[in-house]
Amino acid sequence: MNFDLVIIGSGPGGYVAAIRAAQYGLKVAVVEKEQKLGGTCLHVGCVPTKALLHYAELYEEALRSEKWGLSYQNLHLDYTQLIRRKSAIVGKHAKGVEYLFKKHKIETIRGRGTLLGKGQVEVSAAEVSAAEVSPAEVSSTGRGRTLSAPNIILATGSSALMLPGLTADRDRILTNVEILDLTEIPKSLVVIGGGAVGVEFASVFRSFGAQVTIVEMLPRLVPSEDEDVSAELARAFRKRGIEVHLGAKIGRVSRSAGGLEISLTDSGQAERKLSAGKLLVAVGRKPATGHIGLENTQVKTDRGFIEVDPWMETAEKGVYAIGDIVAGAPQLAHVASAEGLVAVGRIAGKDPEPVNYLHSPSATYCDPQIASVGLTETAAREQGHDIKIGKFPFAANSKASILGRPGGFVKVVAGARWGEILGVHIIGPSATELIAEAVTAITAEATVESMMSTIHAHPTLSESVQEAFNNTWDLSINA
Ligand code: FAD
Repeated sequence: MNFDLVIIGSGPGGYVAAIRAAQYGLKVAVVEKEQKLGGTCLHVGCVPTKALLHYAELYEEALRSEKWGLSYQNLHLDYTQLIRRKSAIVGKHAKGVEYLFKKHKIETIRGRGTLLGKGQVEVSAAEVSAAEVSPAEVSSTGRGRTLSAPNIILATGSSALMLPGLTADRDRILTNVEILDLTEIPKSLVVIGGGAVGVEFASVFRSFGAQVTIVEMLPRLVPSEDEDVSAELARAFRKRGIEVHLGAKIGRVSRSAGGLEISLTDSGQAERKLSAGKLLVAVGRKPATGHIGLENTQVKTDRGFIEVDPWMETAEKGVYAIGDIVAGAPQLAHVASAEGLVAVGRIAGKDPEPVNYLHSPSATYCDPQIASVGLTETAAREQGHDIKIGKFPFAANSKASILGRPGGFVKVVAGARWGEILGVHIIGPSATELIAEAVTAITAEATVESMMSTIHAHPTLSESVQEAFNNTWDLSINA
């Protein structure tokens, strides 16, 4: 079976790459081991978590607005129905990907793809229905179907890392997969890991009334964000009643009558015990590169992550890697898609620009939301930039007051001499939407001055972004 391009994996890396390749006129096949298309992002990542976070926000909003004279009688949270709607949204978009594949005549091949080398991919018969495998397509290994293509894109994604000695059990010890299947809100939840995944689930279940504790080994939450943002999040979470342990280590986890007993050592302190109904392990993601036949190729890896050139090509000519499996790149859906477009552009001879990771936003949808682009203050200083900082608190923004969300700020990191924008960091209401302006500014190489002269509608949260630029030159009007 010959194609111009075979893609292994249908997550936001693989499916976006497939559609663009078909738009460029390539004959494309996508191999996917799961029944449904869409990958981690659609099924157990971005989309279902953001649905839960939206319900959590609505619920909190309803509770909060009682103080302002809007009261709801018998406000009731039906978790089963929320989960049903979350699953319906996921199902709708999985069908959407399938529809797009049909529309673009992309062949979907269900089964596990393994590289055989020399431009060949074997689809394991174990996961391909007998009806799909014709005798003529049985490979020399005799086990399944072999696809040939001059170009192959690996987009196999990642799975949750577990701590040594712990196994997810669908009951008390959970990863992002099992926690999304809970049928009721746990009374208490310990989250190990204060990165994006950990803080999002902590935020959701706290809003829904669970007693939540976060244990993070590093000295701050969301460690890849600016230090001021981490400090603000810890403060906001503690105010919301989330217990936050930083610089802390988890020891023994044992079962108790009501759930789990977890031993914890805070930095420099004695060991103590936490009790919880459920434990979420959110300590990072490992690349799904273990069983995809890399040993049959020249592909180079670093701790399982695949090394690529700026156009996403690996050390094996014609084999590309994108998404969560790429070494040294952020594990984010929009990054996976952007990398897919670069790989396909290269394959189709379109001379694409490589992905500029410094211009790619990161977004965390907890309450308060966090979003950023570019360098943190510390990274800018470490790289030797002479910088100026502009900061504007949402407390001084009238729209934030109207929304009852005065916490957080916008922070600009800029070059002190020319005002070039090095980074923008936002924590507060709608941060994940507001960051788009900063991404456009940094990509278009706008300066602090040019952003200061843009006009923002009043009253909007986006005025805070402009005011942070104003504040870089000490010219903020409202703070
Ligand atoms: P994936 O989405 O993991 O897709 C890989 C696909 O490959 C899967 O369908 C898998 O079944 C298939 N596959 C694997 N091996 C084989 C094989 N051998 N043969 C055939 N098929 C195979 N990112 C954001 O940008 N925004 C968010 O809000 C966000 N929220 C997240 C929340 C959670 C809880 C988690 C866990 C992640 C979140 N992410 C978010 C990260 C995002 O989900 C990933 O970065 C993104 O899914 C990576 O895309 P990918 O295409 O590389 O891989």
